[in-house]
Amino acid sequence: QREDWDVVVIGSGAAGLAAALEARRAGARVVILEKMGSIGGNSVISEGLVGVPGTPMQAALGIHDSPELFAADLLAAGYVNHPGKVRVLAQKALETFEWTRDELGVRWWEDRLEYELGQSVRRTAVIREAKGGGLVYPLYERARALGVVIRLRTKALHLLEAERLGERRVAAVLAEDASSGTRIVFHARRGVVLASGGFSSDIELRQMQNWRLSARVGTATQPGSTGEMLREAARIGAWLLHLEYIHCIPDASPDEKGWGTTWKFSRYCAATQGIWAVRQTGQRFVNETGGNVDKTNAIFDLLNAGLEPVAISDARAVRHPQSVIFGTSDVEALVARGFVSRYPTLEALAEGRRIPLAALQATVARYNDALRSGRERDEMGRRISPIAEPMEEGPWFASPMLAKVLMCSGGIAADDCARVLSVVDDRPIPGLYAAGEVTGGLHGIAFVGSAGLLDALVFGRIAGQCAAKSL
Ligand code: ADP
Repeated sequence: QREDWDVVVIGSGAAGLAAALEARRAGARVVILEKMGSIGGNSVISEGLVGVPGTPMQAALGIHDSPELFAADLLAAGYVNHPGKVRVLAQKALETFEWTRDELGVRWWEDRLEYELGQSVRRTAVIREAKGGGLVYPLYERARALGVVIRLRTKALHLLEAERLGERRVAAVLAEDASSGTRIVFHARRGVVLASGGFSSDIELRQMQNWRLSARVGTATQPGSTGEMLREAARIGAWLLHLEYIHCIPDASPDEKGWGTTWKFSRYCAATQGIWAVRQTGQRFVNETGGNVDKTNAIFDLLNAGLEPVAISDARAVRHPQSVIFGTSDVEALVARGFVSRYPTLEALAEGRRIPLAALQATVARYNDALRSGRERDEMGRRISPIAEPMEEGPWFASPMLAKVLMCSGGIAADDCARVLSVVDDRPIPGLYAAGEVTGGLHGIAFVGSAGLLDALVFGRIAGQCAAKSL
C-alpha cells in the first residue's frame, strides 16, 4: 500500500507532536506513526519538569537568570555537549514555555519552581498535573484539531531513499500496521522527522554500549523505547554521538513499574537514617552517600552477580524530626502498597527478607558504633549525617532495590535546524530531520531532568518548521 503526505513524523512523544504541529501550521499535510497503542512515549510518563530562564515565576520570586547562565549550567554539567545546540535550546526556552502556555493552554504553577542539581538558580517550571501528560495531551489535542493524523500501532521499519532533482534524499518510510499486518509506504514529499525517543528498553543496544546494563538491570521507561530507528539512521549514514552516556537510577523498586516512588525510601536510607545491604550476605557494599555513578555501578555489579540489594531503616524512617523528604504518611503509603515492608524487630526483618541474621546484626552494630564514635566517616567512607541516629528501634523497614535505566543522552547528530548529519561529509542528509531523545550531543555526560522535555519541544518545533519548508 502507498500513502502520500508532505511530512511523516516517527514517534508521538513531545518531540514528534511538536514537530507535527509546527509542520501542520506551516501548511503541510502531516502524519505521525506511533508503534504503541497509545500516544506520548516517555514524555507522557515523565514528571513534566521544564527548566526555563526568565519566567514570570522567577520574576515573582526575585530570581535573576538568563539564557547565557542556563547554557553555562548545561555545558558545565554535560562536559562534552555541543555549545551550539545548547545555546539554541537556552535562547528558545522562554518563547517555548510561553507557547505551551498561550497556544496549548498548558497550566504551570505560577508560584512554584523546582531546583535541580547543577542549576545555579531555581528555574524549573512545574506543570500543575505534576506529570508530562499535562503537556503532552494539550499538544496532542492541538495537533489533532489542526488536522494532524496519528496512526497508532504503526511501526516504522525502514527509511526509503529516492533520487529527486538530482539529489538523493529520504523520501518515504516503510511501516507496518500491527492491527492488520499490512505494510504501508508513507511517502514524504517534504521530509521525515525522526522523533522515536531513546533506547532505554533495548537491552541488546544498551548493553553494546555498556555491558553492565544487562537484562537484570531494570528499565524506568516505556517498553517502546527501543533503538530500531537509531540503527536505521545509522544504516543510511547518520552520525551517532555519545551513545555510551546512558543514565540510570540506582535505587528504584523491582516491584513498582517505571521510576516509581520507592526510591524516596531507599534514598532516605542512603542519605540520612539507614543503610543499603546485600540480601544474601547482610553486609553493606558501597558508600551510600557517594557519587551516583559509583553507586549505580556497585548496584549493576551486584545484580549481574545474581545478588540483591536491599534498603533498611529502623523506626526513625517514619518519625525522624529533621527528615524533609520523608514523613510518616510517605512510609505508610509505601507499606500499604507493598513496596516497603514493616517488621517489629531486626530479627523479623532478617527472617522476612531472608538475610543472614548474625551478619546483619554485626553490620548494624558497626554502623551504630561509627555514629557514636564521632568520626566524620564510617567504614564504607560514608560521611555520617549530623542528624543520623543509631539504628536500634522497631519497627524496622526494608525494600528491595533495582537499578533502572532512565534516559539516553546519546543518539543521532542533528544541526541547529534539526537536520540529520551524514557520517560521510558532516552535511545534512536531505529530507531527514531528528528531534528529542533520539538525538545526541545536547546533554553530554549529564542527566538534567528538566532539559529533556525542553529539548523535545524546542527541536521538535524546529524540525517540523524546517521539514515543512523543505523541497
Ligand atoms: P521524545 O521525548 O524524544 O519525544 P518519547 O519517548 O516521548 O521521546 O517518544 C518517542 C515515541 O516514539 C514513543 O512513543 C515510541 O513508542 C515511538 N517509537 C519508537 N520507535 C518507533 C518506531 N519504529 N515506529 C513508530 N514509533 C516509534
